[in-house]
Amino acid sequence: MERYTKIVATMGPSVASAEAVRSLIDAGIDVARLNFSHGDHEVHRQFADWVREGAEKSGRNVAILQDIQGPKLRVGTFPEGALVLTTGQTVRCYQGRSLSTEPDVIFLDYPYLLEDVEVGEELVLADGLIRLVATGKASDHIVARVVVGGLLGNGKGVAFPGTNLRMPAITEKDEVDLAYGKVLEVDWVAASFVKSADDIRRVRELAGDVPIIAKIELASAYANLDEILGEAAGIMVARGDLGVQLPLERIPLVQADILRRANEAGVVTITATEMLESMTHSTRPTRAEVTDVANAVLTGTDAVMLSAETAAGIHPREAVEFMARICATVESETSQNTVVHAYRTQQSAVASAVAQAAVDCAANLSIDTIVAFTESGSTARLLSKYRPAARIVAFTPIDVTRRRMTLYRGVTAYPFERRDYTDHMIAAAEKFLEKEGLCQRGDTVVMVAGIPPNRQASTNLLKVHVIGERSGGVQSQRTGRTSPEGR
Ligand code: PEP
Repeated sequence: MERYTKIVATMGPSVASAEAVRSLIDAGIDVARLNFSHGDHEVHRQFADWVREGAEKSGRNVAILQDIQGPKLRVGTFPEGALVLTTGQTVRCYQGRSLSTEPDVIFLDYPYLLEDVEVGEELVLADGLIRLVATGKASDHIVARVVVGGLLGNGKGVAFPGTNLRMPAITEKDEVDLAYGKVLEVDWVAASFVKSADDIRRVRELAGDVPIIAKIELASAYANLDEILGEAAGIMVARGDLGVQLPLERIPLVQADILRRANEAGVVTITATEMLESMTHSTRPTRAEVTDVANAVLTGTDAVMLSAETAAGIHPREAVEFMARICATVESETSQNTVVHAYRTQQSAVASAVAQAAVDCAANLSIDTIVAFTESGSTARLLSKYRPAARIVAFTPIDVTRRRMTLYRGVTAYPFERRDYTDHMIAAAEKFLEKEGLCQRGDTVVMVAGIPPNRQASTNLLKVHVIGERSGGVQSQRTGRTSPEGR
């Protein structure tokens, strides 16, 4: 069953062998996520090798996404490994990550704890399971009442939803990890706990040419979404931490809003976290989970993500298979371009107008294949953002572009040698389409390219082409003459 929505799968102990990674690739993953919040560099290198080997053997494109930890705040440690907090109890919160030796003391590693956290503000611990409210301040600690108690384990996360945190976008660990990401030649970087466009710029300084996905998981990132969309290549709706920062019942609305605005800005979108959570231990997801994945597809996400399901669950392959089935089924029974996108940027006004025209043309003529010739992948991204019902076949001479395009909804990419003449390019493409069984002689396709070829021209050509028909007549040589074949 053809599927347009892409699948991101997190690597982890459950798939820690070449065979297990290969099995996920065969089940349909498009992107492998290396979560740098866990594991050392050697573990990530091993996964990167397995992903590349597996992709090669399966003949599929699989991108590697490096997810850096960012400035995640955590609690300190406890002699017993955890501390029981009882609702109504009072605790003292000190700055740091130390071992607390008294039963009413918690260390929190936010450096400006005393300056920034005001009386009345909420402190959310352990992914939202435990909640405190600040009731007073002393010279070296905050007094807080436990509003919702529970078991607080060593190093659990802490969030201050009401505080505008003064945190560096990148920690020392992130700097080291980003340098290692370059060694691994990762295809995408996802930046955690970013708050602004400035934060994205700082990550980019260290990530080099690798496109950045901003994880929207802080209330401040959501508040600054427009400027982040102007800077990032993609966004992830990181519902785990976002659900700690914002009231949980608002998450569906916030998700829909983020997806709509990101799609309109032409930015790639991933919907993440707990999508098929019950499959970490069960062979079947719940009805609610299936509906959640379907809802993300219907609201226009490019990709859906699996976290613990593949990293730590006992049915990683089944989770991928189920997710693929849900996406394909929902897509097959709904019109792709029901989501109206007004994607157009000043930088690419001509390119997006041509892409939109190609998508309209395919719809009006019931054409089911749009062919894109692309160097950077942006032609394919533009086409994808108009969410055509037609599949997009992208040809590129650049390996990393081919892998990056795995995140774009509806795009399948193939390697392609550069040609000097537009009509040679078209002839080679149709030969490939026929050989691979993607099209048959006499089929009509829409082709989109930037010409003249080999000049990094932005998208400016739209051709309605019948496979097998001579492609002459397109002015194609650098001089503007037609090629010998076209004459
Ligand atoms: C999230 O918080 O939803 C998320 C994807 O980030 P992480 O898994 O790194 O916590």
